[in-house]
Amino acid sequence: MNEVAAKKQNLLDLDREGMERFFAETLGEQRYRAHQVMKWIHHRYVTDFDAMTDLGKALRAKLQAHAEVVALNVHFDKPSHDGTHKWLLGMDGGANAIETVYIPDKSRGTLCVSSQVGCALNCQFCSTATQGFNRNLSTAEIIGQVWIAARHLGNVPHQQRKLTNVVMMGMGEPLMNFDNVVRAMNIMRDDLGYGLASKRVTLSTAGVVPMIDRLSTETDVSLAVSLHAPNDELRTQLVPLNKKYPIEELMAACARYVSHNKKRDSVTFEYTMMRGVNDRPEHARQLARLIRQFDNAVQSRDAGKVNLIPFNPFPGTRYERSSETDIRAFQKILLDAQVLTMVRRTRGDDIDAACGQLKGQVTDRTRRQADFRRKLQEQGLDDAAA
Ligand code: SF4
Repeated sequence: MNEVAAKKQNLLDLDREGMERFFAETLGEQRYRAHQVMKWIHHRYVTDFDAMTDLGKALRAKLQAHAEVVALNVHFDKPSHDGTHKWLLGMDGGANAIETVYIPDKSRGTLCVSSQVGCALNCQFCSTATQGFNRNLSTAEIIGQVWIAARHLGNVPHQQRKLTNVVMMGMGEPLMNFDNVVRAMNIMRDDLGYGLASKRVTLSTAGVVPMIDRLSTETDVSLAVSLHAPNDELRTQLVPLNKKYPIEELMAACARYVSHNKKRDSVTFEYTMMRGVNDRPEHARQLARLIRQFDNAVQSRDAGKVNLIPFNPFPGTRYERSSETDIRAFQKILLDAQVLTMVRRTRGDDIDAACGQLKGQVTDRTRRQADFRRKLQEQGLDDAAA
């Protein structure tokens, strides 16, 4: 009878703790061997065990038999005129694909990483939401995005860092894929991985309140919250999750996140600016009140920061970007109320890599894509969605 070959362990799925366990329990090897292999993979981007020259022959043979290093397929990568770079990365035999974007700036290089194939949360202004949802990404698929970008950029951790920040802000709601996202963020922050300081790894959530509390006990990463509206009525329209976790509960969870650990001193509130929807002066005043209440709750001035994001239109959306004048006026009201407020510069819009424009390719398990296409057909925009 043929024995079914045991499935090989993809080493990209393992953080330091998992690697040490795998080396001890499956390979019968010591911890430092696991550390050597992590460095080969994440510092030198080597996937062939035979090229790991400081490992003995016997260990290399054991690794060949029991392990592999498999990243996502690069369908294509595309540079933008402003230095932004986008990758379309495939999985599931080409049926699904996700997008990852690198955004260089004067003093930093930020990678925007996806956590799910599509997204189930259906925020009304988000291009990813129109694709529906297929599945969570594995740890290997999340850290694989960092690995592929870092290799392309010639990033050398601890020496020549092209990649200085990671934001979990691509496709998907990271807190709905908690364990895989936390494990991948462990590798980003580990010296044997990409060596990023915790504050340089940011998780952005639409506001899954119980998971914010769980996150606060497991990591020190920076937290960003997609707020987008200053009152429940409007937020429930834009971010349907708000019905389950309204603003008051969300802000209280953010306050607990900051108070739980002295190393964390702020939360960034993301606010996409949509013309005539959430960009009126009264919205700015309500938002200023919310942020000041948050500062008071954690007893720290400037604990709540606001990031204003000019809306990035996509085919079929009913929303428009707020005017520059309205965005500046909105910012001024917040600044006058002593709320630290930045306006995010739009980058990579010539390659659809701007915030909220990531799309990939999703074999939808919901009815969302079909509904969206029907809506586009009604508007005579069906070709634009192809
Ligand atoms: S904004 Fe984020 S959470 Fe909302 S649908 Fe888009 S990807 Fe999902």
